[in-house]
Formats: sequence, structure tokens, C-alpha cells
Amino acid sequence: MNLILLGAPGAGKGTQAEKICEKLSIPAISTGNILREAIAGKTEMGLKAKSYIDAGKLVPDEVVIGIINDRLKEDDCKNGFILDGFPRTIPQAEALDRMNVRIDRVIDIEVADEKIAARLSGRRVCLKCGATYHTEYKKPVTDGICDVCSAELVQRKDDMPETVLDRLKTYHEQTEPLKDFYAEKGILRIVEGQQEVADTTALTFKALED
Ligand code: ADP
Ligand code: ZN
Repeated sequence: MNLILLGAPGAGKGTQAEKICEKLSIPAISTGNILREAIAGKTEMGLKAKSYIDAGKLVPDEVVIGIINDRLKEDDCKNGFILDGFPRTIPQAEALDRMNVRIDRVIDIEVADEKIAARLSGRRVCLKCGATYHTEYKKPVTDGICDVCSAELVQRKDDMPETVLDRLKTYHEQTEPLKDFYAEKGILRIVEGQQEVADTTALTFKALED
């Protein structure tokens, strides 16, 4: 199954991507994680992306389209994949169409803007393996330490309140139009993000089946 996860920053796309990855054994591909790895590794792409990400803006389409074009050619995508954070603009969605990959389902996880800032301010991430946590909703076993790889957890600079509003604005202007784009194709399913992760996951799995 080839899937796209849509939703505002902090709606819980990454968490649901992990759950689907475990259940269906298909890779979860996060453009945000790939870009953050590039920044940590100080690659040319990382240096280019950093200023956009820190400002809460989108990285230019051609950069992320290039990333996805390469990634989808890898062997582990043969039996399906989950795109988490791509596409985020109409030109990105059109580029995906041109890559000749069939998309089976687009799951849009809806969370009201008012709840987003609280969710993001509690978010902690592992820069080593990409796992995400939350100080209230998804605590690691040991405070401040990644369950998966024992690296130290950090707060993303773009999760600070002053950048969150910019990210939400970018989301509404550039990403939300994708809902209509995929609704017209008949493959969009809406999931209301719940307080408890497990409840959202149950709704997400249901949306994959119908
Ligand atoms: P979130 O979903 O919480 O906003 P991500 O980790 O998906 O976080 O993305 C972090 C940042 O990386 C975005 O704010 C944006 O700057 C950049 N980014 C990620 N994916 C894309 C994309 N498809 N197009 C443009 N920029 C992207
Ligand atoms: Zn880790």
C-alpha cells in the first residue's frame, strides 16, 4: 500500500507513520527527518535547507522533490511506503504524479490550530534516529533519553512558539489545498486527531481499510 499522511505540523503524522510502518512493514519516509539529518551532517543540501526550516518556511520544492524521487527508487519501497510530510504543496503533488507512483490512500489527520501550539511545545525529538516524544502524551522510559537509541532528546528550534505560528500559516496557505487535490481523486480519508495516540491510531487503521 502506498500512503500519504497529511496534516498540520504537530498533528501527529510522524507518530501514526511509525504505527503504520510497524503494522504493514513498509517504510515511513519523512522529508523533515531527511532534511534534519542533512543539517546535522552539514551537507550542501542541509546548509541550504536550514534557514528555511528555522524560519518555519517550506524548503524549496525542487529540493524535496529530488529527495523523494531518489528515495522511492530504493528497494524497500517496492511493497509500499508511507510519505510523512510530502507532498506539502500542489507542485510537489504534481511532481509525485509525474513520478508514476500510484497512491492508494491519503490520510489527513485533523487537529485544531488552538491545540497545535501546546502539542509542539511539549515535543522532544531524537536527532540520531528521528524518534519523537512528548513531555505529556508520549514520554520516553527515561526522562530526556531516546528509548530506541539512548541518545539525548532535544527540542526542535522550529517547535518554539514564535515559529509555530509561521508554520501554521504556511500549512494553511500551501498544504491544506492538497485536501481538495486528493479528495477529487477519491482517495482522501479524514481522521480526527484524538487526545490519546492509541485512539488516533485506531481511526487511522480503520481509514486504511475502507
Ligand atoms: P512538522 O510536520 O511537524 O511540521 P516536519 O519534520 O515534517 O515537521 O518538517 C519540518 C520542516 O521541514 C518544515 O517546517 C519545512 O521547513 C521542512 N519540510 C519538510 N517537508 C517538507 C516538504 N515536503 N516541502 C518543503 N519543506 C519541507
Ligand atoms: Zn533515538
